[in-house]
Amino acid sequence: MSQISLFGEEKEEKQVVPGGKTVSVLVPYPVEKAYDYAVPKDLDLQAGDYICVPLGNREITGVVWGEGTGDVEPKKLKSVISKYPLKSMSGIHRKFIDWVANYTLSAKGMVLKMSLSAPAALNPPKPSIAYKKKISKIPDKLPEKRKKVLEVIAEGQAYSASELAEMAGCTASVIKGMAQKNLLEMVEVFGTAPCSYLNPDAGLHIDLSEQQNEAAQQIIEDIRADKFSVSLLDGVTGAGKTEVYFEGVVQALKNGKQVLILLPEIALSNAFLDRFKKRFGCLPALWHSGLGSAQRRETWRGVASGKTKVVIGARSALFLPYQDLGLIVVDEEHDPAYKQEDGVIYHARDMAVLRAHLGNFPIVLVSATPSLETIHNIWEGKYKHLELPARYGGAQLPDIALIDMREDKLERQKFLSRALIKALKENLEEGNQSLLFLNRRGYAPLTLCRGCGHRMECPRCTAWLVEHKRSGKLHCHHCDYHMKMPKTCPSCNEEECFVACGPGVERIFEEVREYFPDARVMVLASDTAESHEDLKSMLKKISDGEVDIIIGTQIMAKGHHFPNLTLVGVVDADLGLQGGDLRAAERTYQLLHQVSGRAGREAKKGRVLLQSWMPEHRIMKALAAGEREAFFDIEASEREMANMPPYSRLAGIIISGREEHIVRETAEALGKISPQGANEHGQRILTLGPAPAPFARLRGKYRYRLLVCADKNLNVQKTISNWISQIKIPSNIRIYVDIDPQSFL
Ligand code: ADP
Ligand code: ZN
Repeated sequence: MSQISLFGEEKEEKQVVPGGKTVSVLVPYPVEKAYDYAVPKDLDLQAGDYICVPLGNREITGVVWGEGTGDVEPKKLKSVISKYPLKSMSGIHRKFIDWVANYTLSAKGMVLKMSLSAPAALNPPKPSIAYKKKISKIPDKLPEKRKKVLEVIAEGQAYSASELAEMAGCTASVIKGMAQKNLLEMVEVFGTAPCSYLNPDAGLHIDLSEQQNEAAQQIIEDIRADKFSVSLLDGVTGAGKTEVYFEGVVQALKNGKQVLILLPEIALSNAFLDRFKKRFGCLPALWHSGLGSAQRRETWRGVASGKTKVVIGARSALFLPYQDLGLIVVDEEHDPAYKQEDGVIYHARDMAVLRAHLGNFPIVLVSATPSLETIHNIWEGKYKHLELPARYGGAQLPDIALIDMREDKLERQKFLSRALIKALKENLEEGNQSLLFLNRRGYAPLTLCRGCGHRMECPRCTAWLVEHKRSGKLHCHHCDYHMKMPKTCPSCNEEECFVACGPGVERIFEEVREYFPDARVMVLASDTAESHEDLKSMLKKISDGEVDIIIGTQIMAKGHHFPNLTLVGVVDADLGLQGGDLRAAERTYQLLHQVSGRAGREAKKGRVLLQSWMPEHRIMKALAAGEREAFFDIEASEREMANMPPYSRLAGIIISGREEHIVRETAEALGKISPQGANEHGQRILTLGPAPAPFARLRGKYRYRLLVCADKNLNVQKTISNWISQIKIPSNIRIYVDIDPQSFL
């Protein structure tokens, strides 16, 4: 802790001069642009300043966006109230907000809102109480405990009561008592910004392999050159990609820059943070949705002041108002979790590339299974390709075998093949851990009446209700609807008539318990690990060897590293291929490859068994043979033939509302004047629909979709906003535009 002045500066309140200076101010509300406010005399404002302004009858926070534009009549002009004592938001960050709003067709104020995501951080932090030595000589007749305290305390240093109590091996009340007796002095201190002092030499020295070193040098050179570039760091799990980009972090720190490492939320594990700490001597500043308000405030302030040097966060960390960002790493760049599907709809990887471009610094995308978009950019020569071909230390990739489920002739309502059970048994006997992967929460995805065939559906969504034995309820996985398992069929009133169809992780758990009653089995899914803390402690149990068989959803697929996990069984490898999504094949490939990468990460060789009903499918074959390039080639040529991304650009238009006929009519009105054909530059556009969305009802709202497919050089944002502005949208209807959609539901 460092000691600074006792009180934060007060907000300054100033008088307005009629006809004086104005500034335009962006506020974190659904506004399209910045509006003018008058500047009181004596208040010195510059672009980027955080200020307090009146809006309606409230006082809110805004950011000075530039000079006044004269868009508000002088009579109606309201005045800025005060300015916060903070460093102003950088010009690049403001430009970024403008760009993201334009790109995603979102209200600019809503993008700003993502940057003002810790409102309490704007006010000066509250100091905490600390204790210093008040006397120079330790009196002889002092009780031992108090003597000890005075002995451990360094001259001139201030400590919190709990720190001091721990150092002296006493209770905090001893410390407080000593303050009353004038042996210690109470002072107010402010915490230092998180991750503000790093030591790049803290870690053990690691000798990079030749290939690792080559990749690291390229990244380092790019950072030294201090200009925009995009690299893909491409290598199997365990190839040492993290070690390599840590070298880039070191270089950016040497240049005095801030660094952002983006990770999919669930990969933000303790293990990763510990690893960072070992390497850099301090924990990184964290940013994700599970943070408490105190931590949010600290990270936000640290980033905005420029003191915090490294942030590790989920996608929203991209919108923190960095003072001087100089490197972004997007780990697991292919991960669908980078897409935000509500509010401002954006893809964090793509917006990160934009951020690096605006800031004119390098960005490193990292993956073992890059997205086709990224691979395509490499083929086009836009991105650099840094390849790490082997696992570090010669650890071998697991053997991947396909199990043809058509040949196994399973009993009804059983889901594990003989081959997989045998492998589990062997692995258990050898004392190793196994993972059964099934990307489906709950017990069974469909509950049906044996008598009349009635299916239990969500009353608010186009979706089946999923039985969860843990809660004894049927849950909708798309809204928060749930109900007790009914005793009788709501359609035919028959009793005890329900059949559970298909497996979820809970059902696999039951089956595993039947075969291996003595094994220690854990179900790891987002509903069994509800908080970050739960997840952390469950992962710890696994690494401490307290679990033999883990049954997990995709929460288990990411980044975790368990040396004793040597067998991975994929219960339903075909699952992701259903639904016919544009990226179904790509996603399945990535997910299964990633799950497979959990097997045998250290000395022990791993084994992967994929249960499939279509083992001849090109994805299954590519996975088993480890032929990634062949998979990309075929996938790319199919997309090219269909004129789909990355060879074109898509935009989804979703019309939603509570009254079905108004939703339909609005969608039809849009459909009638939808952009079609080629424009004067010969750039083509095609609009499909409207049609009811696959989730025709979601959370009680009806939904229709249109899909725009355009040549990549066409300004699709401009076309879409011109188009939509032509019709009057009823007030109870919402239209969402999803540029570069990942989901088509
Ligand atoms: P990836 O990010 O590609 O999955 P990691 O960077 O996590 O790979 O590396 C896998 C393991 O190998 C880690 O425990 C890492 O510390 C170790 N490792 C990688 N490269 C080296 C090296 N050159 N020297 C020592 N250990 C290394
Ligand atoms: Zn629902």
